[in-house]
Amino acid sequence: MEKKVRVRFAPSPTGGLHLGGVRTALFNYLFAKKHNGTFILRIEDTDQTRFVEGAEEYIASCLDWCGIIADESPVHEGDFGPYRQSERKASYKQYADQLIADGYAYCAFDTPEELDAKRKEIPNFTYGLLTRDGMRNSLTLPEDEVNALLAGNTPHVVRIKMPENETVSFTDLIRGHVSFDTNLVDDKVLLKADGMPTYHLAVVADDRAMEISHVFRGEEWLPSAPIHILLWRYLGWGDEMPQWVHLPLILKPDGNGKLSKRDGDRLGFPVYAQNWVDPKTGDLTKGFRELGFMPEAFVNLLAMLGWNDGTDQEIFSMTELIEKFSIERISKAGAKFDFEKAKWYNHEWIKHSNARELLDFVKQAFVEQGITLNDDVYLEKVIDLIKDRCNLLSDFVPQSQYFFLAPGEYDLDAVKPKWTKEKATFFEAYALEVVDEATGAELEEKFKLLAAAHNFKPGELMLPFRIMLVGGKFGPGVFDIAVALGADETVKRIHNAIAAFN
Ligand code: GLU
Repeated sequence: MEKKVRVRFAPSPTGGLHLGGVRTALFNYLFAKKHNGTFILRIEDTDQTRFVEGAEEYIASCLDWCGIIADESPVHEGDFGPYRQSERKASYKQYADQLIADGYAYCAFDTPEELDAKRKEIPNFTYGLLTRDGMRNSLTLPEDEVNALLAGNTPHVVRIKMPENETVSFTDLIRGHVSFDTNLVDDKVLLKADGMPTYHLAVVADDRAMEISHVFRGEEWLPSAPIHILLWRYLGWGDEMPQWVHLPLILKPDGNGKLSKRDGDRLGFPVYAQNWVDPKTGDLTKGFRELGFMPEAFVNLLAMLGWNDGTDQEIFSMTELIEKFSIERISKAGAKFDFEKAKWYNHEWIKHSNARELLDFVKQAFVEQGITLNDDVYLEKVIDLIKDRCNLLSDFVPQSQYFFLAPGEYDLDAVKPKWTKEKATFFEAYALEVVDEATGAELEEKFKLLAAAHNFKPGELMLPFRIMLVGGKFGPGVFDIAVALGADETVKRIHNAIAAFN
């Protein structure tokens, strides 16, 4: 029988959630949903030194925002809990013991000072095949000494004993055949002195306990795969091993290396999904959400970082992604992150959303500027008029402020040099023609006729009219703006502006 699809996103709660992490979560999720499987959120918090308060809640909130909802998680437990590794602490030691008993792991008693001294003595020191004989461990010390150390509760770690001259090969569903020379892999710690497992032991134990069928994770974990594969074998679980799917890296815009948060800071774009405030320093790192990305657009652009459906289609909803997603179409090559392209996705999503769908986002963007808008009908009209001009949801504020507030300042440089008494007379006359029932087309028609009667080309008057209503040289069709503002407001703005231009 085919193994039931069960996949997991297994972040460590150490800080902000990088967009690469969200993409890993997304690919897990898409695969699970496509195959009627289960998507699990497992919190890998065994490294107490890196634990950051609030990071777990933050990760959950980022995933919620994206609509990547876990079927099983710390807050929505299934039958395989607990879903935080720290709460599973008691379950790991038995495996370390089993590995020691079977000769696949050993106890190492080296103190931090001794390890430091070795690092100073041997450049690029790693604990493994070439060095383990010179260290204080259960392979080198006499048995009675080891027993005495253990009986005396001497602090020690458990390390995997990497085999000599072996090749660990496996099939990665993206990369195909992959192999590693065991001589080049060090004896990683499996169990720490505090009894906590390291990532390597915990990941294998939990992937088995949670019956994970496929491991989707970033390519940066590929070098860890031989350790995990050996652990699966050494523990006697080889047949149950999940399938490996190492996702391509997300690269810096210039393609030179992995995209880091620092690149975002340097180049002025977000890398985290949502705002992250470091609880120690209070430093705020801006996220895609707060910058004005729609979650649909964020999900869409992440999906395209390393995947496509084999056609030119670029815009996909979550439902479509679930339907079309396949591992075969994930590329091996790293995907360059391009912030301009990311904004393009957002722009497309804004453009194709209707005003009702954008209403809450836009209101929120205004609230962030201290402005509360109550007239939804009017706001929807405004949204429809300007959405084509917005790349970010936050653009709605500067792009539409004049619909709610008469211009306080005018771009006088754009009108003054060509402003004449005759133009003022034209606008005085036009103000009389602006009535509430008129459509944009009718207002335009009247404008043109009147311009002709005053011996103007309409083009000479259009820019001043726009500046009267908007304050600057931007915005949608000026007659549409006039209709949305209504006759009273339009006329008022014409008069105020004439006074300012004269
Ligand atoms: N805890 C690891 C991380 O922080 C998970 C890697 C894996 O999926 O195996 O990304």
